[in-house]
Amino acid sequence: MTVESISEIARKLIDVLFVWALFYIILKSLRKNMKMIMLFKGILVIIFTKLISTWLDLVTIGYFIDYVIEWAPLALIVIFQPEIRDALEQLGRAQFFTRKRNLSLSELENTINEIVNSANYIKKMRMGALIVIERDSSLASYVSKAQKVYADVSSSLLSSIFFKNNPLHDGGVIIEGDKIICAGAVFPTSDSMAISKRLGTRHRAALGICEKTDAIALIVSEETGRISLAMNGELIYNLSLDEVRIRLIESLAPSGKILRSAKGGDINE
Ligand code: ATP
Ligand code: MG
Repeated sequence: MTVESISEIARKLIDVLFVWALFYIILKSLRKNMKMIMLFKGILVIIFTKLISTWLDLVTIGYFIDYVIEWAPLALIVIFQPEIRDALEQLGRAQFFTRKRNLSLSELENTINEIVNSANYIKKMRMGALIVIERDSSLASYVSKAQKVYADVSSSLLSSIFFKNNPLHDGGVIIEGDKIICAGAVFPTSDSMAISKRLGTRHRAALGICEKTDAIALIVSEETGRISLAMNGELIYNLSLDEVRIRLIESLAPSGKILRSAKGGDINE
C-alpha cells in the first residue's frame, strides 16, 4: 500500500466521520424540539424530491421544488418568528448595549441577606418560593410575560409575594441586581433524570431555568421546608441558610474581589 492510498483512505474516513458527527449533533439537538423535527423532515422530503426529479428529468416537479427552495428563507422567518424575536430581545439587552451595573460588595451582601432572611421566614411559615437571580444571560423573555414589580429587594416584600393566597405567589420572582423585577414568572421545567422523582414542578422549573441560562434559582419547598439552589445546570438540594449565603456570595460577587466573611447576619435557623 502506498502512502498516497493510505492518505486517500484516511481522507475518506474523515469525510464520512465528519458527516456522521454532523448528523449526530443535528439529531441530538432535534430530539426535544417538535418544530425542528418537522422542519428537518420537510427539508429531507424536499432534497429527496429534488434528487428524484433531477434523476427522472421531471421538469414540472423540479420547477416546483426550485420555487419552494427560493421561498424557503421567508418561510423559515415566519415559522421561527418567536425564536428570532427572543434572540433579538436577548441581543438588545446584552451587556455591550445596556451595561448592567455591578453591585458593590456591600450592596450584594445586603441583597443576599434580604433573600436569605425571606427564605428563612418562608420556610418557617411553611410556604413555598422560587427566586431566580439573573446573571449574564438575559431573562427578558420571562419577565415580559410576568407581573412587573421593579422594587428594591427586601425580605418583607419577597415574603409577602410568596404568602399563600397572594395572587402573585404562584410562579417565580426574578431579581436583577438589587431589584425585584417581576413576580409570577413561569419557567421551562427540566426533564432531567438526575433529580429525585419526588421533586415536583417548582424544583424542575428552577433546574430548567438554570439549564437554559446562567441564572441562579433558590427554592423553598412548601412540602418539606428544605431550601435548595439550582445553578450551572445542577440542583443542590437541602442547604443550610449559611451554605446558601456563602454559595450566593461566591457565585454573584465580581471575580477577583476579596470577600468578607460570608457568615453572620441575623439569621437563626
Ligand atoms: P414543593 O416542594 O414546594 O411542593 P415541588 O417541587 O413539589 O415544590 P409543586 O408541588 O408541583 O413542586 O409546586 C407547585 C408550585 O410551583 C406552583 O404552585 C407554582 O407556584 C410553582 N411552579 C410550578 N411550575 C412552575 C413553573 N414552570 N415556573 C414557575 N413556577 C412554577
Ligand atoms: Mg410538591
